[in-house]
Amino acid sequence: MKLGAHVSSSGGLVAMFEKAQKINCNTMQFFIRNPRGGKAKAIDESELTEFGRRLCESECFPVVVHAPYTMNICSPKENVRFFGLEMMREDLQRMAYFPGNFYNFHPGCAVGQPAEQAMDFIADGLNDIIRPEMQSMVLLETMAGKGSEIGGTFEQLAEVFHRLKLPEKVGVCLDTCHVWDGGYDIVRDLDGVLHLFDKVLGLEKLKVVHLNDSLNPCGSKKDRHAGIGKGQIGLKALCRVLTHPFLKDLPFVLETPTDDAGHGKEIKMLRETIFAEK
Ligand code: FE
Ligand code: FE
Ligand code: ZN
Repeated sequence: MKLGAHVSSSGGLVAMFEKAQKINCNTMQFFIRNPRGGKAKAIDESELTEFGRRLCESECFPVVVHAPYTMNICSPKENVRFFGLEMMREDLQRMAYFPGNFYNFHPGCAVGQPAEQAMDFIADGLNDIIRPEMQSMVLLETMAGKGSEIGGTFEQLAEVFHRLKLPEKVGVCLDTCHVWDGGYDIVRDLDGVLHLFDKVLGLEKLKVVHLNDSLNPCGSKKDRHAGIGKGQIGLKALCRVLTHPFLKDLPFVLETPTDDAGHGKEIKMLRETIFAEK
């Protein structure tokens, strides 16, 4: 089972890797720049190369880089779209130093435009950035559908895929809190939700799962994460996600509201619960 957490990268990539090892992650997620966006530091080749070497030598692979939250490549404002695409391009340049991993981003918010227009912008941006020789895979995250968020339904993500020139270089990251808040009942009908995903997007597109509990009921469109077993999805249902035959070989990343040590405890609890059920 590939299970890890979003780890803080504030002390540098190598220190972060060591933190992840300490809490027994065999996959992880992190920001490669300030999560609120803005200018990235200059490329530190030696740090990136050393980080890549550590990953290759460890069980902790593949890993996920999360794009800054402020990125909105479908904004009606041209400068916001442009700035988002620049950040994505730079992040992917850094990821070329540790090939074979995932770059996850939020499709964005339409803010006032028709969803169709926003989806055109997302696809245009990706078509501009993604190259056939790229060794990283870009992932669209399923969203809760809060406000004008794109990606609150599987159909919307599929519409973005239909507009891509290189759809084989793009996948989907399923966030359990987001799909639950978006109205997909993974507690009572996980099979049904996954079959629907397969019908609309194709299960082969699913590359990573964000494993989060949710503070709110199914369909609330809120996007407030809860600790594992502390929300309305619950420990049992999250364990069924982890062990589902369609999902069990994917990397699972916790984004629950706690620190690295707290994530370590949740990872331990999930592993023990699943082991006890076997
Ligand atoms: Fe996210
Ligand atoms: Fe997420
Ligand atoms: Zn979220």
